[in-house]
Amino acid sequence: MFTNENKFNEPIFSISTAARILNISVHTLRMYEREGLFISFKNNSNQRLFSQSDIERIQCIRTAINEAGISISGIKTIYSLIPCWKIKGCLEEDRKKCDAYNNSHVPCWSYEHKNFCKDKNCRECEVYYKYSQCGAIKELIKSISR
Ligand code: SF4
Repeated sequence: MFTNENKFNEPIFSISTAARILNISVHTLRMYEREGLFISFKNNSNQRLFSQSDIERIQCIRTAINEAGISISGIKTIYSLIPCWKIKGCLEEDRKKCDAYNNSHVPCWSYEHKNFCKDKNCRECEVYYKYSQCGAIKELIKSISR
């Protein structure tokens, strides 16, 4: 049975449709992906498909760039500060060897992980789909500092 959440997360839009909905070019959309601002879903034919949730994420990125004046590097830095090690409960010894824990330039899902996150599908990880969504980072910081 399909719930509203299923529909929201179902990848159904082609890249050209997504670009049209977002009123940006396919080139820009690909550039955001290369920069690690979002992770696209690819079907068996390696075709990128976008869900409504992806569209809203990218809309939020566009607002940050166009209205708040945050650069792409700035957005990547903000994502890199999400404490994925805390959310995923990584062990102290794993943290010491983890690029995502030790650097603050790019989101954790941009690294090629050798340890804990190796072989994980980042698109299905809560750090990506939950905590890096619009507004979620601030709520996360509030919950940690409570
Ligand atoms: S699985 Fe991917 S998104 Fe999740 S914490 Fe690891 S690198 Fe980050």
